[in-house]
Amino acid sequence: PSRADITYFGAGPALLPTSVLEEASQALLNYKDTGLGIAEHSHRSQYAADIINQAKSDLTTYLDIPEDYEILFMQGGGTGEFSATVYNLVGAWVTRKKAEILKQLGAQSEEEANQEELVTALKKAVDTELKLDYLVTGGWSLKAYQEAGRLLGPEYTNLATDSRTVNEGKFGKIPDESTWKLSKNAAMVYYCDNETVDGVEFPKFPDTLIPDSNGEGPIVVADMSSNILSRRIPVKNFSAIFFGAQKNLGSTGVTVVIIKKSLLPPACPQPSPALMRKLGLPVPPIVFSYETVAKNNSLYNTLSIFDVYIAGQVLKKLLATFPDKVDGQQAVADQKADIIYKALEAHPNVYRIVPDKSVRSRMNICFRVTINNDTDGTEARFLKEATAVGLTGLKGHRSVGGIRASNYNSIPLAGAQKLADFINNFAQA
Ligand code: PLP
Repeated sequence: PSRADITYFGAGPALLPTSVLEEASQALLNYKDTGLGIAEHSHRSQYAADIINQAKSDLTTYLDIPEDYEILFMQGGGTGEFSATVYNLVGAWVTRKKAEILKQLGAQSEEEANQEELVTALKKAVDTELKLDYLVTGGWSLKAYQEAGRLLGPEYTNLATDSRTVNEGKFGKIPDESTWKLSKNAAMVYYCDNETVDGVEFPKFPDTLIPDSNGEGPIVVADMSSNILSRRIPVKNFSAIFFGAQKNLGSTGVTVVIIKKSLLPPACPQPSPALMRKLGLPVPPIVFSYETVAKNNSLYNTLSIFDVYIAGQVLKKLLATFPDKVDGQQAVADQKADIIYKALEAHPNVYRIVPDKSVRSRMNICFRVTINNDTDGTEARFLKEATAVGLTGLKGHRSVGGIRASNYNSIPLAGAQKLADFINNFAQA
């Protein structure tokens, strides 16, 4: 089949706009008439710097990112960020705690303080107060929570909520906020805004985590790997947001971090490796150090400029398509999800939507198909017949089975409509 015959609903890497790929194929051979391709130019070249700066600027425009945020391009994927967030946010917590203790000790600086006193007080604070809170609402936040326990020791992690406790051991709901057990002064409250495997999306920013009128609130970190660029987000409520590029932004190979500058130097330098070792806390590998990446405008080491270029081209296309930026894309994303969910709801004896209605993802639509009490056989037939008409990539994640339609930004409205028609026709037949 040709590219034009297929609507690909795979969960990631996802479909990229054809026009972006056509231009990219030229850029790979000869970028801006230099005779060299974009993947061959030095990451130290002006071309690279321009691509990074333009992508940052367009992302800022598209999402209305406030000025007091920095944008980092990193490697290691969403999984790398499960680790990076732990290292960096624990470091930031130690820096804040150290400032508090120095004040109590009446010292102007770390050097001036009695080192033994300082380390003893800090160690005590680490042992009794340091906590990382996780809202576990699906497979990806579970992985992040487990990684924090692996890096730090489970005694430092707090499972503030776990969806499985309110849904018969399975993901698919988000427990009521009043039941969340948040720690006092957590190093971060972490959650995954859209759970790709389980089809669960936070309907909005959690009320309990909204900062007060002075802007004071918990340190909130969110994984938006699978729903970024698809709806407006209140960036100012977050300390950090991260996402792999490969679903809604671009190709696999770069991960974006949007981080509040108050977590970076000069406001918040990371503690020295020597101090972290004395406290028994881990020191980040340098490629995962946000302050190192920020200081070098994402070019501490060789970055895949090609992948940043692709992300930049996708952003350019989004900005050209939607004069009202992310709000425009949000309206389309909502409409596409609505069409597909409506088709599923029209045949309740055939389709069962997996997550609870209150937390249904607009991006990853997870459902089961059963006819004559046969789910496995019916789903196999559903996938086969869908593929035959060019609707591909619909198989659910291997850990949960079923069907999953990943309805990312590059799926056109007509593609969502084609799937909805197929869902209707399959049930009627
Ligand atoms: N977070 C979410 C929400 C994801 O969907 C994924 C991958 O699909 C990841 C994290 C892991 O990303 P990566 O494969 O880039 O490490």
